[in-house]
Amino acid sequence: MDDNRYDDTKDDINGENAGTEEKQSDYEDVCFICRRPESKAGKMFRLPNHICICDDCMHKTMDTVSQFDYQGLLNQPPTDHNNGNNRFPNISFVNLADLQGDGGIPNKQKIRKKKASGEKPEIDIRNIMPPHKIKEKLDEYVVGQEYAKKVVSVAVYNHYKRVATGTMDEIEIEKSNMLMIGPTGCGKTYLVKTLARLLDVPLAITDATSLTEAGYIGDDIESVVSKLLAAADNDVERAERGIIFIDEIDKIAKKKNTTSRDVSGESVQQGMLKLLEGAEVEVPVGANSKNAMVPLATVNTRNILFICGGAFPDLEEIIKQRLNKKTSIGYNAELRDKYDKEKNILNRVTVEDIKKFGMIPEFIGRLPVIFTLDGLSKDMMVKILSEPKNAILKQYQKLLELDEVQLEFEQDALEAIAEKAMEKDTGARALRAIIEEFMLDIMYEVPKDDNIGRVTITRDYIQGTGGPIIDIRSNSLEHPDRLKVIENGNAGAQA
Ligand code: ADP
Repeated sequence: MDDNRYDDTKDDINGENAGTEEKQSDYEDVCFICRRPESKAGKMFRLPNHICICDDCMHKTMDTVSQFDYQGLLNQPPTDHNNGNNRFPNISFVNLADLQGDGGIPNKQKIRKKKASGEKPEIDIRNIMPPHKIKEKLDEYVVGQEYAKKVVSVAVYNHYKRVATGTMDEIEIEKSNMLMIGPTGCGKTYLVKTLARLLDVPLAITDATSLTEAGYIGDDIESVVSKLLAAADNDVERAERGIIFIDEIDKIAKKKNTTSRDVSGESVQQGMLKLLEGAEVEVPVGANSKNAMVPLATVNTRNILFICGGAFPDLEEIIKQRLNKKTSIGYNAELRDKYDKEKNILNRVTVEDIKKFGMIPEFIGRLPVIFTLDGLSKDMMVKILSEPKNAILKQYQKLLELDEVQLEFEQDALEAIAEKAMEKDTGARALRAIIEEFMLDIMYEVPKDDNIGRVTITRDYIQGTGGPIIDIRSNSLEHPDRLKVIENGNAGAQA
């Protein structure tokens, strides 16, 4: 980013060096007065301290100044009334440099220039990763959630196919915005983050709870697009192909039994409709809200993929009610509590249920891909600990490896950690907290003693009834770089 910064030595009022600078910077200049970028306002006058002023504003300023009556104002002797200033009494000139701080308009508030056509290929349909490849990649990071990974892979593939072709034989392909439903900590955010990284597209994550209708306290709905633009380095074209993830979408359900205006619920859903579908929005660059000091950029959301996620806590009840109603009528009537014990009842969700939960039909209509994620089981937790490419245990092993200490976990210890996490009911998020708690002592003690060659974590240590097994360095250690789970039987022999 630093090489895009202005160089003081290049500032010149006449703009003689403008050509050279243009080549070096990917960012557009923005007029200091009217805030329009160079592409709209035309060539800029460059003043010292990185101030750019467009032709129009410069002329207006000159006109105003030339109409001013200077008679008697210049060369006035200093008096008490004019604070010792011998010019322009009662008029203080703003020093533009003061407003600017020391860095001039940062790149953060500049829009990246449009690329000349031909400079970079558009998304090529042959280069889009096919669904099975996307899923394969997701498998490396996300444990379980097979159905969700499959749906996401296909939806994303279709989405970028749509982006690549524009329209297909006059048949407009529908946008594949998604709604994912799953309990907290089951990997919704993680799935989207992994996806964006694999596809190398910018990603903005927002919490629906912070959004309110424009004009009320809270973030405007359009601020999500502004975040995406920032994530794309202010490159409008890149942002227009990005992904926006809106978490906690269930929190903007219609409020029930309310008489006041629902500015953070139904109104937000209404406000999001045009974004979801595709619209041109003017968003502030480098700031969260529109104001006079911030330049604006126009972003088209037509090709932005929106993914909404939420836990929808009472949805299970609504589904059960519906199912029970269906089966309690007629000859096939079944027991009322038939569905009470069914696991993953969320899988049976229908659009009707979501409507009943409080999402408005127009909103659901714009999220055609609806799917659920499973709550995490103990087995999945154990896998999450050790299997993904960036698994948390692998991270600790890497850390200790730098001290030339081998860290190992008994299978039984992993299960104990998973059991503890299940009790907390916050999904995989509990895992990190638990591990950090017991790893603290190890990370503190191990570097003290150079003789320690291997530490093995046991179930007893996790449950607080024993300590880890410490091996002294003289033992020959094999595979220091692999996560090695020692079976119960072996652990005793090594101790
Ligand atoms: P939420 O569903 O509430 O958005 P997150 O995606 O934030 O949950 O999950 C929290 C953390 O738990 C993630 O950062 C990730 O490390 C881990 N995690 C959750 N589910 C999985 C999974 N299926 N596979 C791998 N890691 C997971």
